[in-house]
Amino acid sequence: LEKRPVDMVSLVQNCLETARISTIKEVFITFEPPFDVYLIHVDEAHIKNIVSNLLDNAIKYSGDPVYITVQLIDGPSHMQLHVADRGKGIAPEHIGYIYNMFYRVPEGNLHEVKGFGLGLAYVKQVVEQHGGTIHVKSELKGGSTFVLTIPKNG
Ligand code: ATP
Ligand code: MG
Repeated sequence: LEKRPVDMVSLVQNCLETARISTIKEVFITFEPPFDVYLIHVDEAHIKNIVSNLLDNAIKYSGDPVYITVQLIDGPSHMQLHVADRGKGIAPEHIGYIYNMFYRVPEGNLHEVKGFGLGLAYVKQVVEQHGGTIHVKSELKGGSTFVLTIPKNG
């Protein structure tokens, strides 16, 4: 990892803009950063990739329009990033597997959404290399919220 001070506000804003223009879906985004600048000590390229991966999933596994809410939350030693969608959700019996390489929630012939099942495995690896954690709260048909917790000075 190549860690240096990274402004999470502009990083998230850049990822949101890129995600918005990479899809033909209509995307409604709620992101109200609590700070003008929020510096943490991380590997910028990898953190950008993981935010993009979570946004990509939020869009892929939602209908049209897409509703995404992103929150940055400052803690004493950690920052939290919440990425919430109102998409198809993940059934409880599949949640334990979604970080495994090549795992995709099985949907038989209806699996029209393309992917390799690698995004979340990568996200989890990068988060853990930073000494952080990833959790998801999801409800089938109700949407998913991924929560990253990352040390500010890892
Ligand atoms: P890739 O990211 O490699 O293009 P992928 O999106 O299928 O492919 P992951 O990002 O690792 O792979 O996600 C694994 C599986 O978890 C997905 O195939 C999907 O079934 C489920 N999943 C991930 N994110 C969401 C989400 N936001 N809503 C619903 N299901 C999701
Ligand atoms: Mg993915």
